[in-house]
Amino acid sequence: MERLDEIAVRLAGISDPVRLLQGIFAYAPFGLQVYRADGHYILTNKAFRDLFGSEPPPEYNILHDDIAEKQGLLGLVKRAFAGETVQTPTFWYDPRDLQTVHVTEGRRVAISITLLPLFGASATVEHVALVFKDQTEETLARERAEAAQAEAEGLAAHRAEQERWLQTVLDQMPMPLIFVEPTTARVFFANAAANKIAGGSLARPESAEDYLRLFDIRDLEDRPLRVEDVPAVRAARGEAVSDAQIRWYTSSGMKVITIHAARIPAMLGHPETVLIAFDDITALKDAQAQLEEAVRVRQDFLSIAGHELKTPLTSVMLNVHAVDTSLRAGARADDPRLTARWQALVRQVGRLEGLVNQLLDVSRITAGKMVLMPEPIDLGDLVREVVDRFAPAPGITSESAAAIEVRVAGRVDGVWDRLRVEQILTNLLSNAVKYGAGRPITVEVGAAGPGDDAEAWFAVRDLGIGMSTDELGRIFGRFERGVPERNYGGLGLGLWIVRQVVDAMGGNIAVDSAPERGSTFTVRLPRRH
Ligand code: ADP
Repeated sequence: MERLDEIAVRLAGISDPVRLLQGIFAYAPFGLQVYRADGHYILTNKAFRDLFGSEPPPEYNILHDDIAEKQGLLGLVKRAFAGETVQTPTFWYDPRDLQTVHVTEGRRVAISITLLPLFGASATVEHVALVFKDQTEETLARERAEAAQAEAEGLAAHRAEQERWLQTVLDQMPMPLIFVEPTTARVFFANAAANKIAGGSLARPESAEDYLRLFDIRDLEDRPLRVEDVPAVRAARGEAVSDAQIRWYTSSGMKVITIHAARIPAMLGHPETVLIAFDDITALKDAQAQLEEAVRVRQDFLSIAGHELKTPLTSVMLNVHAVDTSLRAGARADDPRLTARWQALVRQVGRLEGLVNQLLDVSRITAGKMVLMPEPIDLGDLVREVVDRFAPAPGITSESAAAIEVRVAGRVDGVWDRLRVEQILTNLLSNAVKYGAGRPITVEVGAAGPGDDAEAWFAVRDLGIGMSTDELGRIFGRFERGVPERNYGGLGLGLWIVRQVVDAMGGNIAVDSAPERGSTFTVRLPRRH
């Protein structure tokens, strides 16, 4: 009140105060409107009309403003008309939306209003002045920002769902997969198969250097990898990686791993990603090595076989030629030179036959076509018979010149395939002669235990070159030879055949040997099989 009085005093000093106040009202840069106490307005300024795009029609009454009512602001307006200065929050207002009056021209604006009751002399509200603040720009900007944020949040939620779905799919795949960030080589996803191959949970490198810290990885020659050679790092740096093979030492042993990488460009809101698929090919590599070894052994065998067959064949050719020449020169059949040639021919052809038989035996045994024809046999007799065949023929100084002693403890009867037992003995004796360094050879025959489950055994012992542990591990293999080919002939098949025959008869063979100390091969056979 006092303030108004003071203003009245000051205005009294001006020649035309009404004109001054008119000017302020008219040119104020914010919307102003004055209402009567009954809710009808009497004045608006230019800023008001610019703000709303028009003036309300005369019948408009703010106390019945349906927009204010809908916004829940009518109570606030009424309080101002009851004498209280009030301030509305910011709200959207378009005069064309008014239902109580008809407005055709207007603008939609965001406003906040200060309502000032103006009292008359009797201290009752005679007018209410409204001061409008235009908040359209700020409100639009804020609403846009909120909408953008909501959209971003919606997108992020959607992407998270998509990623969860994709991870579920990738976890079902049997192939280990990881996602790697380009450039940094950071691993940000590993599927279930990748975790499994790592023994539970795959370590996640954050940088290229991390790979060497977290994994013991090497090249196929077992040299530790350099950072720039790690396939995932190469792929992250933009190199094409396909079937890169490395060794990976995990808690469950060494694995050979093959690695493929694919670059997925940025798309559908996802950044560029390097997809790395890898697989454990240890078993495959082992099989490959075994196959290569098998092929090598067979190639060696072919050259040995060719050589082995060629040696006696050359002698046969020479002897045949010599016999032919002698006969043409009129030699008689009982000429001693011819006889020696004939005997040599018989030995050489016999050797050829032996070699060919071995080859045939191998294919027969491999095809599972070994047939046994058991008959009652006295093993002691059979051994003596075979040993007799090794006695040098009169007049011939052969390689089998070593003395062979037979020791038999009583009768050793059993039911066996005679030819196969002979074959076992012949092979073991030939080896004893071949590798026996010309020293005496012993064959012992015996039996263990009475009754049907009793065993018969024989042991062939020589005092020759013997074998190293390494050789002992190989000699029963097919085409395997312990000795260098140039020193001793042979196909490397004899012991393999012996082991197959002994197995087929339900027995077993053992060897006891040391280099330069000779070898003892002991065969045990059930008396009946
Ligand atoms: P081959 O005698 O034709 O080479 P075998 O299968 O009979 O083939 O023998 C395989 C290998 O076992 C021989 O190459 C030899 O190294 C070794 N071996 C066999 N018997 C003896 C033995 N009595 N003394 C020493 N080494 C032997």
